[in-house]
Amino acid sequence: MTPTQRIYWHTTVQMPDDLKLMPLPEKVDVAIIGGGYTGLSAARTLAKQGVKAAVLETNTIGWGASSRNAGMVLTGLKLGMQTVMKKYGRDIAKRLFQYSLEAIDTVEQIVKEENIDCGFQRYGHVLTANKPKHFEALKNDIEFMEKEFNHKLCLLSREEQGAEIGSDLYYGALVDECSGGLNPAQYVVGLAGAAERAGATLHARARVNRLESKENRFFLETERGSLNAESVLVATSGYTGNVTKNLQKKVIPIGSFIIATEKLSDALVNKLIPNGRMIFDSMHYLNYYRLWDNRMIFGGRAAFFPETSKTIQRSAEILRQEMIEVYPLLKDARIEYVWGGTLDFAFDMMTHVGKTDGIYYSLGYAGHGVAMATYTGKTVAEAMLKGNISDHPFASFSFPGAPLGLYNGFPWFLPFAGAWHKILDWIE
Ligand SMILES: Cc1cc2nc3c(=O)[nH]c(=O)nc-3n(C[C@H](O)[C@H](O)[C@H](O)COP(=O)(O)OP(=O)(O)OC[C@H]3O[C@@H](n4cnc5c(N)ncnc54)[C@H](O)[C@@H]3O)c2cc1C
Repeated sequence: MTPTQRIYWHTTVQMPDDLKLMPLPEKVDVAIIGGGYTGLSAARTLAKQGVKAAVLETNTIGWGASSRNAGMVLTGLKLGMQTVMKKYGRDIAKRLFQYSLEAIDTVEQIVKEENIDCGFQRYGHVLTANKPKHFEALKNDIEFMEKEFNHKLCLLSREEQGAEIGSDLYYGALVDECSGGLNPAQYVVGLAGAAERAGATLHARARVNRLESKENRFFLETERGSLNAESVLVATSGYTGNVTKNLQKKVIPIGSFIIATEKLSDALVNKLIPNGRMIFDSMHYLNYYRLWDNRMIFGGRAAFFPETSKTIQRSAEILRQEMIEVYPLLKDARIEYVWGGTLDFAFDMMTHVGKTDGIYYSLGYAGHGVAMATYTGKTVAEAMLKGNISDHPFASFSFPGAPLGLYNGFPWFLPFAGAWHKILDWIE
């Protein structure tokens, strides 16, 4: 049976719709472009301080990656901390790792304060070793993380890994107890409610088509009217378009896809992931998976291009095969849902926060946005209130564009990048 092309998470909560559109204000203090975790978290923070903030969203609130992801609330950054330390030095690396831990605390705190029913729990994550040499690298990482960051991780040998994962595919694994998991759509809906309660206004079907500055104010033309603002925050992540051309040229939109199985028996679920951890592997073309309501939620970068009906359909079978490779026990499990979403990668795979042409931005979460987008939304808003973005930990290094300027927003190189990742997986 062909799975439904539908975001499974959307069946678990009433997503915001566009049946009753909130009229656009004429004038606000801050206009926020993008209605996901970044925009909503910033709006909540600003509105709590009495700032008049409006969130402008092309589709419906929460439509983007924020309601489509795997809901893993992870420690660290996309780049390993050893790489971060080599590139930026010890002080910055320490500040950024600490920031990633605070990001998880912030999600936990918002969920509690705002009473968001999204199943947040510190499940912990497991990083598997897909090759014997990856296991050696994990050992080295554990020592490094304890020595440099006093962050304790647990190593599991191939013989021990059965305690965490019912698969023989791997050569051992690392467990980080600090990470969490949640239902991403329930979370974004809860965050939207919190932003509204704080006093922000949320505007669906309000794609910003033009943005210009005149006499210290910004003028935004949207699909359904115009408004002007004292400041603007761009929170468009992998969906950044040509309204902010300078940012579009620095963000690579990469597709990621997920399947959800039918509900499995308790006995099977307990064999697959006994402690309910968030799991991802050590490959460049990586897979990530977890359980929710007795379903296996299994994702990966089956196609590199952003989601279309064709890439989603193709991904369903690729992901099913990959899931069976990890878990032969799931060979007869029905795949009920498949969907895709777009991630935002900067050329250096780092998150970037700052100001360009007077416009604030926070982008480049590279698959770590559940915690990071929530926290940068909050901290960028705080920096805007103080009028000092340059002190933000993710503003302390440059935001690179494509080498030789070979990118204008259309990611023509993705098939090559995909092939390159496959080669790296083969040799590394
Ligand atoms: C399949 C998948 C799995 C993932 N899994 C995880 C995970 O497990 N853990 C994790 O930490 N991260 C994960 N991520 C990444 C995470 O979802 C994102 O980093 C995060 O949601 C980014 O939030 P955001 O608010 O910045 O952007 P988004 O939620 O993408 O929102 C951006 C919004 O901007 C809107 N927009 C764009 N242009 C305009 C415009 N001109 N005018 C108005 N609105 C505009 C878009 O419509 C969109 O709704 C995953 C992503 C995907 C796609």
